[in-house]
Amino acid sequence: MQDRARVKPAPAHRAIWAGFRVMMLVLMVALTLVAVASFGMYIITSQVTWAYSGTQVVPGTGGVFSDGESTSLELVAVGDVMLSRKVGRYMDEKGIGYPFALVNSLLRETDLSFANLESPIGSSGTPLPGKGIWFRARPEAVQALTGAGFDVVSVANNHALDYDTAAFLETLQLLEEAGIGYVGGGNDIRQARRPLVVEKKGIKVAFLAYSDMAEMFWSRTYPRMLRATDTSPGIAPLRLDEMMEDVAAVRPEVDVVVVSLHWGQEYMDNPTPAQREMAYRLVDAGVDLILGHHPHTLQGFEMYRNSLIAYSLGNFVFDQGQKQITQEGLLLQVKIGKLGVEQARVLPVYLPEAQPRVATGELGERILLKTQRLTGSLGGNMVIREGHGELQAKAISQATGQ
Ligand SMILES: [Zn+2]
Repeated sequence: MQDRARVKPAPAHRAIWAGFRVMMLVLMVALTLVAVASFGMYIITSQVTWAYSGTQVVPGTGGVFSDGESTSLELVAVGDVMLSRKVGRYMDEKGIGYPFALVNSLLRETDLSFANLESPIGSSGTPLPGKGIWFRARPEAVQALTGAGFDVVSVANNHALDYDTAAFLETLQLLEEAGIGYVGGGNDIRQARRPLVVEKKGIKVAFLAYSDMAEMFWSRTYPRMLRATDTSPGIAPLRLDEMMEDVAAVRPEVDVVVVSLHWGQEYMDNPTPAQREMAYRLVDAGVDLILGHHPHTLQGFEMYRNSLIAYSLGNFVFDQGQKQITQEGLLLQVKIGKLGVEQARVLPVYLPEAQPRVATGELGERILLKTQRLTGSLGGNMVIREGHGELQAKAISQATGQ
């Protein structure tokens, strides 16, 4: 009793104790509220799969979606890369690394990078009779692609066979030796339609590529089409039934399916209704991301179901200096998770003298506003923020639904 009486606090001490207990209680309630709020936020943000809230691009600091999670990867995609003609002369004068010198960090510091390789590379072959425009980059040009760290290129386009079968096969060989994956072309149609599967950060991504204009020829005396056949080399043609077949075949094997399409009308701002219909059918078949190119000018984006359609990323490395619209393109950064596209952002690109760079200031703003307008006209939504565009889903349920 004596001891208990001794430890019993005096009245003044009791007041302090009571105050302390109230403070502790307030602190605990506050901590609980913070915990509940954070958890709630986490659930909400994990559902808003399109809304981007990451860091700004700072060259040299790695991926733009660095949020501490390792369950997703970042893919950078660009449009037409043509290393012949005037671009070849620039490379002779200014060095092999010239085309990508100002965008190297953006291309290298990502998990996966993709481009449409619009020119064969090599020294063999003869110009395809009647074609009119013939591209072929020198064999050393492949070093520009490795220097920029490209992982995957599409060869399914209307210039792949400018120097006929010999240069086409030399291109594939050079890419293989350089460790660059390629899609959309091969020794026969089976190889041309074969998906390239890349696994990074535990996510399996399949790439497929097809081209319009693969089934025409330019000379009656030498009717060489660009498409591969059962027995001859070439590229994969843009045939919806075959594309859907290929998508369906690879879909169960991978987490994400990316399809590159060389299509659309040159110098036009918008895709045709037929292109949009084709894109929808491909998404329905299981495609998560469509990367379009060929018009030499940028077009809008569309979100359909849970997938992203880039109708045309425009030029990236090209020497069409005569028109302003052909010197403007887009660099697309996509965050990909096991269930598909999670976030996407768009950087405006300007390519004077065939050397792309991120467009800033008024020019960057103008390119982004145009992309926003074209995306809007397709029913999509792009928010412009700090020099880049953020593509957003119309509704959370769309973004999370399969
Ligand atoms: Zn083209």
